[in-house]
Amino acid sequence: CGIVGYIGQNDSKEILLRGLEKLEYRGYDSAGIAVVNKNSGVQVFKEKGRIAELREVVDTSVNTTAGIGHTRWATHGVPSKVNAHPHQSSTTRLTIVHNGVIENYSGLKREFLEGVELKSETDTEIVVQVIEKFMKEGLNLEEAFSKTLGILKGSYAIALLDNENPDTIYVAKNKSPLLVGLGEGFNVVASDAMAMLQVTDQFVELMDKEVVFVTREEVVIKNPEGDIIDRAPYTAELDA
Ligand code: GLU
Repeated sequence: CGIVGYIGQNDSKEILLRGLEKLEYRGYDSAGIAVVNKNSGVQVFKEKGRIAELREVVDTSVNTTAGIGHTRWATHGVPSKVNAHPHQSSTTRLTIVHNGVIENYSGLKREFLEGVELKSETDTEIVVQVIEKFMKEGLNLEEAFSKTLGILKGSYAIALLDNENPDTIYVAKNKSPLLVGLGEGFNVVASDAMAMLQVTDQFVELMDKEVVFVTREEVVIKNPEGDIIDRAPYTAELDA
């Protein structure tokens, strides 16, 4: 029911976990994070239950300055560790978190994922598997991500990591809230500014179906036609 993301210079695990704690009030049944480590790639930690329980399974020794996190309110598939986000594609190259409901997930599964072994019962895993399928057919990640967004029906806020380009968080939304936050040498992603007020109060609104590339240095927003969009940040204030 909430999404966070961080890419910068500091320990991403702690920033993501704190951000998820700020989102706890929305309600959730499980939580997880995926963090990037220079040597071992993307590592996923997830658990059914509270953020406090997730904290216990996170390997505190992982050196990481980028990652994504999620609190889940199950819509497709029971609340469980397996169905908790993040979800990975079959090769584990791609890692996704998603809020919302993909209404045409079973049609997408039938059309694109014959023979693909799914690990979870979620609509979300279908999305990451379809992106990977399009990449196997020759598209690059940006093309495969855009193509997939173009055929999704329903609501989504998505953050995606690519193990082969771990210096970018790929982001998109449709009818679910998602913001990008700006910092010096870092940038963040959050479904609610409150989650990331710990590190910045400068946020940029995202429009439905834009494709957004978040790196340490910049945030690039493209509309569905592929044009780069310039949008000024606003200052988020903490409600008393
Ligand atoms: N539909 C997804 C699931 O059931 C995401 C739910 C959410 O928004 O947390 O896993």
